[in-house]
Amino acid sequence: MFNSGVNYMSIENIKVTTFSSEDALKKISLWASNLGFSNISIANIESSKELIYPLKKYQDWVNSEYNGDMHFLKKNLKIRQNPQKLLEGAKRAIMVSMNYLPNGTPEDWREKEIKRLADPNNATISIYARGRDYHRVMRKRLAKLGRIISAEFGKFGFRACVDSAPLLEVELAEQSGLGWRGKNTLLLNKQNGSLFFLGALLTDLPLTVSKKKISNSCGTCTACLDICPTKAFVSAYVLDARKCISYLTIEKKGIIDESLRPLIGNRIYGCDDCQLFCPWNKYANVSDLKDFDVRNGLDEITLLELFNWSEEQFFINHTGSPILRIGYENWLRNIAIALGNAVNSLKNNDSNKKPPISVIRTNLKKRLTKKYPILNHHIIWALGRCN
Ligand code: SF4
Ligand code: SF4
Repeated sequence: MFNSGVNYMSIENIKVTTFSSEDALKKISLWASNLGFSNISIANIESSKELIYPLKKYQDWVNSEYNGDMHFLKKNLKIRQNPQKLLEGAKRAIMVSMNYLPNGTPEDWREKEIKRLADPNNATISIYARGRDYHRVMRKRLAKLGRIISAEFGKFGFRACVDSAPLLEVELAEQSGLGWRGKNTLLLNKQNGSLFFLGALLTDLPLTVSKKKISNSCGTCTACLDICPTKAFVSAYVLDARKCISYLTIEKKGIIDESLRPLIGNRIYGCDDCQLFCPWNKYANVSDLKDFDVRNGLDEITLLELFNWSEEQFFINHTGSPILRIGYENWLRNIAIALGNAVNSLKNNDSNKKPPISVIRTNLKKRLTKKYPILNHHIIWALGRCN
């Protein structure tokens, strides 16, 4: 694995003799670093042998229906084990990570996030979703990396993938030494924790494979498993996505199970708890890119303010954001659930806290409409809590 720590070297001074030389990797690593990537490693995708066991575990997972309504995860199993099928002649995957903590994140960001979760008036949006959509940001930069390599090494085949192809990204990243898979199922490393995105640039260049696998440093820790609000982990390393708040608030269309609604708290898009409490995330790093800067004050905004955004405001404010894809009705559905939870919390804990329950009731009623039956269902549930 090469990381941005080699930045002090001058690219021009590195002479590349063959594609498989260490120098070629150093150059690619420097270009990647200049494009905002935090780490890179080279995975071998010529042989499918190393993916046999991970695919078996993946198959067991989808056979248990833990993927919920994400039916696309059941497709293309053969390609997941043979990623070389995604690009003619593909030999390697240049695996990249990109830190995403926004600029201006304070030192005590974890304490602040935990405090926000306990405030019934505030909306909590997953940190990664407060800025621009990482899919677009990374894919553009990966494609640029491909073009830079091509200009230097000669024309070659490449394909940039960021959640856009059936790849076992975490396995490829783990096998090539970008980190270890934590008990919370995410990739971690000691330099960056887990607050980074993963991407892959598939290529037919025969680059030297990174072999330095990183040993798992979760040890006896179980913080992520213990803290999960919905107890979504079946066991360490196995997540039942159907119970996960990230799935429920982003992927789940339609009605959210009533038994799970109170556990969602004020999380209206995604959930960070199993990362927030992970001890390795004290090493999470701020992004070099402005793309992940917080937009629309989404790190300090009330539920009622967001609930009152018109449909037009929703589309304008979330242009270029990953939030846009859940659509206006599910956005309001999630906020209605959070408002229902706020009512309960205000009743139980501190009746002097603003806004009064009567204001929440009025705002919920205002949103009742025939246009959105799913939203109505959740508003009626939330109104029931106001009594
Ligand atoms: S994202 Fe939240 S709900 Fe999902 S597994 Fe992690 S802690 Fe649990
Ligand atoms: S919280 Fe603990 S067990 Fe979970 S991923 Fe982090 S180190 Fe591993």
